[in-house]
Amino acid sequence: MIIDGKKIAEELRNKIKRNIENLPNDKRPGLSVILIGEHPASQIYVKNKEKFAKEVGINSNVIKFGNDISEEELKKEIKKLNNDPDVHGILVQLPLPKHISQKDIIETIDPNKDVDGFHPINVGNLSSGNDAMIPCTPLGCYYLIKKVISNLSGLNAVVIGRSNINGKPMTQLLLKENCTVTIVHSKTKKIEEICKKADLLIAAVGKPKMVKSDWVKDSAIVIDVGINRIEIDGKNKIVGDVDFEDIKDKVKGISPVPGGVGPMTIACLLENTLKAFNKISGSAPH
Ligand code: NAP
Repeated sequence: MIIDGKKIAEELRNKIKRNIENLPNDKRPGLSVILIGEHPASQIYVKNKEKFAKEVGINSNVIKFGNDISEEELKKEIKKLNNDPDVHGILVQLPLPKHISQKDIIETIDPNKDVDGFHPINVGNLSSGNDAMIPCTPLGCYYLIKKVISNLSGLNAVVIGRSNINGKPMTQLLLKENCTVTIVHSKTKKIEEICKKADLLIAAVGKPKMVKSDWVKDSAIVIDVGINRIEIDGKNKIVGDVDFEDIKDKVKGISPVPGGVGPMTIACLLENTLKAFNKISGSAPH
């Protein structure tokens, strides 16, 4: 089974749109995205975020700065947005220029408006099992998995990659669902053997087509987070961390790249913005 992230993301966006349409006319969630420099992938991500935000009825604006912005100036802008009652979600597009501390910038964002879920308060709440803003990509993976299997209790889950934005929050979400979770990384020995035992395999590595068919068992559900740009026959292509062609006929379910996790990430950003709006404005949760 190919897990159609495009379709599932569209369903989620439609649900968000309906929720927003039901709000009083003068109340709309607001999302501000800060974009620094000319990083080509970031430009595309931000453009898509803005497009889909508008489509569901979120007031979205992109604030652009040159690479030479100082950390102090950036913090001042974030504090302005923290205090703006029309802004409910703040996203600082990463990566940041080297002279700016990513940690200090993330910690400047009001945790209630932290729609990326990267603030330590949200990270702590997620790992304590409390209500939290959950990082958009692992949340999107979680929704894809839940679409295929409603009860994850007791399943053996393996997450490849331990980044703060993907691997770690993914493990927290799966633990909350009573999975037995193993996280593997670049220093793990015999990764293939560990992956082979997985009922759920989530690959968030950044290595094109790393996971092959002899890494997985037949009944596995595989979620591919990777976005890798490679050249095939002189053409630029995007491939995941999983060798899709090699695996697709073997496993029970697999999310493709593109068209899997990517669209879910943006839909979950919109959902987080609505969640922030509901919390800040005291509306009932959607
Ligand atoms: P990251 O911060 O670079 O982390 C990569 C992780 O993979 C690290 O934990 C690293 O281990 C581990 N790793 C590297 N080589 C490995 C190997 N050979 N075997 C096992 N583990 C290995 O990456 P990220 O930000 O999590 O992103 C991962 C991928 O997801 C990238 O392709 C990125 O473009 C993509 N992504 C997609 C979305 C989306 O919306 N679909 C969103 C964000 C990111 P160590 O910790 O030991 O170094």
